[in-house]
Amino acid sequence: MERNEYFYLKILFRAVLLAVAHQSSPASACDAASFPVVIDIGHSPSQPGAISATGRPEFEFNRDLATTIEKQLLVGGYPVTVLQSESGGLISRAARANAIHPRLFLSIHHDSVQPQYLQFWTANGRIERYSDRFQGWSLFVSRDNVQFDRSLSFATALANALRTRGLPFSRHHAEPISHENKTLLDPDRGIYAYDGLVILRRVRAPAALIEAGVIVNRDEERRAATPERRALIAESVAQAVLQFCDFPP
Ligand SMILES: [Zn+2]
Repeated sequence: MERNEYFYLKILFRAVLLAVAHQSSPASACDAASFPVVIDIGHSPSQPGAISATGRPEFEFNRDLATTIEKQLLVGGYPVTVLQSESGGLISRAARANAIHPRLFLSIHHDSVQPQYLQFWTANGRIERYSDRFQGWSLFVSRDNVQFDRSLSFATALANALRTRGLPFSRHHAEPISHENKTLLDPDRGIYAYDGLVILRRVRAPAALIEAGVIVNRDEERRAATPERRALIAESVAQAVLQFCDFPP
C-alpha cells in the first residue's frame, strides 16, 4: 500500500498543535489514576541487546532507566506496570501489555550503530567495540499501530520534552545504508517510522520506543549510566505523559 504523505503531514501538524495548545493551558485535565502506563524493558537478561563500549549489556541500561521512569510516574499517580521478559519474545510481550489495557506503552532501549562503524579498544582489561561517531536519542512509532496518530502525538510531546532539557537526538537511523534508511517522520524531533516492529505494531495502545542514547559511544555511555541523565529522561517522559493524558482520545 502506498503511504499518503499528506495524511501523515496532517497527523504531524495535529500533534504539534496539541503540544502548543498544552503549553498555553495551565490547568491539567489528566486523571492520572485512570491512566495506566506500561513501561517495557527492552530485551532480557539472556538476550541482552547491544553491548556498550565498556562491555555492559544494553538490558542493564534499559532496566535502570525503566526503574527511574517508573518511580517518576508513580509520583505523578499513574498506575505503572514495568514489563520484564526472560526471553525476547515480542509477540508474547505485546500480549502481556494488551492484557493490562494501558492507555500508553513505552519501550525502553539503548542504541548501537552498524558494525562497519565499530572500532576496537581495551576497556576493563578486555577488547571491546565502540564508535564515537553518533550520539543522542531516537524515537520510533509504527504506522501499523491501530492508534498511530496518538502514538505520534505522544512521541512529539516526548521529543519536545527531551529537547527542552538540552538532550539532542541522532539522525543516524536515517542514513541511506543497509539496516538503517528509516523514514524520519519528523526531522525536527528525531521521530522515525518503524512500521514492522512487532511490539509497536501489536500493542493496541498508543505506543512508542525510545533509544535513550548510543551506548557504544564512549562519552554517551558514561552519561547514560549516571542518575542525572536517567532523571532528565524520566522527567521528560513524565512531562510527555501528563501532556498526553490531558487530551483524551
Ligand atoms: Zn534494544
